[in-house]
Parts: sequence; C-alpha cells; structure tokens
Amino acid sequence: MPDHYLCFHGHFYQPPREDPFTGQIPREPGAEPYHDFNEKITAECYRPNATLGNFEMISFNVGPTLASWLDKYAHETYDRIAQADRNNLAATGFGNAIAQSAHHTILPLARRRDKIAQVAWGIASFEHRFGRKPSGMWMPETAVDYETLEALAAAGLTFTVLSDEQVTGDTGGRAGPYRVKLGAGRSITVFVRDRFSSNQLSFDMDKFPNTTAWAEQALASRGQGLALIAADGETFGHHCRAGEHFLHNVLLRDAPALGFQITSLTQYLANHPPQTEIELREMTSWSCMHGVARWVTGCECTPGDGRWKGALRRALDNLSGEIDLVYTAEVRAADAALRAWPLRDAYIAVVLGQMDGPAFLAAQGLGSLPTPLADRLLKLLQAEFYRQRMYASCAFYFEELTRVEPRYAIANAARAVTLVKEATGEDLSRGFHRDLSVAVSSRVNATAADLYDAIMAAAQASSLIK
Ligand SMILES: [Zn+2]
Repeated sequence: MPDHYLCFHGHFYQPPREDPFTGQIPREPGAEPYHDFNEKITAECYRPNATLGNFEMISFNVGPTLASWLDKYAHETYDRIAQADRNNLAATGFGNAIAQSAHHTILPLARRRDKIAQVAWGIASFEHRFGRKPSGMWMPETAVDYETLEALAAAGLTFTVLSDEQVTGDTGGRAGPYRVKLGAGRSITVFVRDRFSSNQLSFDMDKFPNTTAWAEQALASRGQGLALIAADGETFGHHCRAGEHFLHNVLLRDAPALGFQITSLTQYLANHPPQTEIELREMTSWSCMHGVARWVTGCECTPGDGRWKGALRRALDNLSGEIDLVYTAEVRAADAALRAWPLRDAYIAVVLGQMDGPAFLAAQGLGSLPTPLADRLLKLLQAEFYRQRMYASCAFYFEELTRVEPRYAIANAARAVTLVKEATGEDLSRGFHRDLSVAVSSRVNATAADLYDAIMAAAQASSLIK
C-alpha cells in the first residue's frame, strides 16, 4: 500500500519525586521490591524499551524531570534514549524526539508568563539532553488553549499533538498534520491522534491474543496518509506487562506486513506539510472528558469528593502571586532596567547545572551586584523554580488529597516559602497555611495544612531549615 504511514508517539514522564529539601527520593510504598516508582518503571518499561531499540522506531518525548532522573540513576538507559534520536537524525535527517514543557503543568490553567517559562525551560532541557533544537513540543495531558499554542509558536516550535476530540474541522478521523491559525498572522501545526486505537492499546492491550490481531483490526482498513497512535510511554511494559514486546512486534513486523511505513512526526511533517486548517476546542485534554476540570474543581473521572482540588489550586495560586511580588521587587532593587520574567526563563541554565549562580548573574550583566543582593536574588530565583514545580499536574490527577502526589506539590511550595524567608525575612507561610486549611480530604481526617505542617516539621527535625 503506497502512502500508508504509521507513527507511534510515546509520552514518557514521571513527576519530580525528590524531597525538595534533601534532593533525595523517599522510599515509596507500592513500588516494592524497588525503592521508588522511578526505579520500578525503569525496570519494567524504560530499560526494556531502550534495550529492544523501540525508541528508534517511535516518536517520543521524555519529560524533563524524568530525563534528569534517568541521567543520574539509569544512565545507560538515558544514553540509549538520546542515541535513538541521534541515530534517526543520522539515518533520515530528522531526530524523533520532541520536547515537553518543564513541569507537567496543565498549561491552559497557567498564567501567560508561566506558560512562557514552562515552554522556555522545556526547550532548554531538550537542548541539554539531545544536543539540538526541538521542532515539536508535547503539552502535558495535551491540555490546550490558544494562548498556550501562541507561547509554543513564539518560542520557535512548529508542531504539537492533540487528540481527535480536542479539535473541530474536516479531519475525517485522519492524523493530518493540520494548520491552526494563531494571532498576528502566525500559525502552528497540529497532529491529531486516533483516540480510539490509542486508548484501546492503553487500556485493552491484553485483550488481544497477539499483536497481529491488533494490527489487522486497527490498521488493515485504513486509508492513505498517517495513522497516529499516541499514548503514555509507560503503557508499554509498566501499565501493560510485556507491552514493550507488543510495541516492538507491531513496528518491526505487523505494521510493515500490512504495507505501512514507520515514521516519526518530524520526518512525516517534513514531507507532508499541513494543507487543511482546523480549530481548537479550548480547555480540553486527552485524559479528562470534562475539559480540564480534573485538575481544577474535580470531576467524575475520579470518584469521591474532589473539592480539595479547587482549594489546593487556590492556595498555590495565591502563594505564587505572593512569591512573584517579592521576586519582582527584588529584581527592581537589583537593576531597575532588568526584566524579571526573561531573567527567570534564563535561570534554567543553573537548574540544569550548566553554570553556577554567580556565573549566571555575570552572564545576565549582574556580575557587579553586591554579594548580599546577589544572594537574595539567587534564592528568590530558586523559589521561583520550586513554585513552578509545585504545579506538576499529578497533584490534581487522583481522587485523594493525602496521596503522595499532592504532597509533592505542597512540599515544593514549602521549599519556596522557606527560600523566600531565608532571602528576605518575609514569611508567606501564614497566608498559605490559611488557604491550605480549607482543602479537606474526604477519606481521612486531614487538611492540606496538616500535610504542610508535617512536611515543615520533618524538614526542621533534620535541621534543613535554619
Ligand atoms: Zn474529568
């Protein structure tokens, strides 16, 4: 069959599991016999897929927080993943990795300046890992609005991926790519995944006796053009046992046997520029049929009373506003002409270990700041980093406030509060605590303020707070 293409896109991601006070990952219940879920999922998914060569055959993104962990703790797997992109680049002229915004923030729910930071930090992380500029970016949960796509396009990115229920227009169930018009004469390219086939793999892979049966059912009757399956990468080996072999067999044997050429998004786009225009259904995502309610107010996707989600988000948003006020005031004190948000965007170089704080300030033309001012500014930039990290969407994904994921969010907030206090003496904890106290678990007798108190008590007990 001429002109039949198949692309599998894998979204590989783990939240920042490190205790923000110690940098260490605590032992995670449920991950046994492994120490934590990063180790468990590496053994079940990342390492076997890398060893089988699957990363060479798919299109993929590795979230910056996961890439950073793999670099440190599973370096051989990390190297194989980066090498897969280089091998594709050498063989086809196109790398098959794409970027992801930094902290798995639901971007449509973020302020514009935070969207811009998340995108800039995602690009910088990609360049650090893959040694080249990215052309596409994965948006967490594929959550979208026009302002987010504007941020991608303004940063020089050319495409992203959405699910078919997130767009309107004449797609006929095909993957495109399509053009989405933005303001000021700009546009961006969108690939549209096949939701049915993607979800079938994610949730029902084990119902098929073998990969050939799946491929014949999912692919054999397709017309020309691109078939795009996009799923969490962890589907292949972690969520579905032996899923790495499923992926391998489909790409190496079954899809080619049906006449499909295996391609990546970047390679396909280079030869098939968008011809048709489509529009967005804004404030939608691939994993909540209620738009983005799952991460704001709670919805029927998770059973039980999810009202804590709105309260926790309000607490984080209020705290963000307070931290930003302190930070911008400090930036003005350092240099009246200095722009706070581009400075924060550039700060990712320090987080990535490309330079230390003093070298960063020198590179920003702030090398002559008196030491006390320089120290304060660097601490507040660190606070801005942790305040970005507290928005990892996992905090809001599940039904229960006292799970480990909301704790990550609150721990990162606690770290930011501590840094602000160390830098300026200003104590933001009272207001934050008040806001957290109205986020109440429906399962156990606890509020988010109780979680915050426990986190601060643990940090104080280990003398991590002066
Ligand atoms: Zn929902």
